[in-house]
Amino acid sequence: MKCVICHGDEIEVMEVKEEFTVGSDIVYVPTKVSVCKNCGERYYDRRTMQFLEEIEGKLFKERGKLKEVGKVLMYD
Ligand SMILES: [Zn+2]
Repeated sequence: MKCVICHGDEIEVMEVKEEFTVGSDIVYVPTKVSVCKNCGERYYDRRTMQFLEEIEGKLFKERGKLKEVGKVLMYD
């Protein structure tokens, strides 16, 4: 498989942090996806997409179970 962005062929499965926004919070979900090592483009297969959609639906309800690892700050 070649990267459609940079045409590189170094695509590897890596663990990345997918970001979801819940209200004004940001939730990181560790996810294994194929990533182009050259340009960083992420490739999602159907199973990963389904997994992320499921998680997204649960995040709001299960917000209380999430661990706080940082804060979201705004400069204004
Ligand atoms: Zn690439």
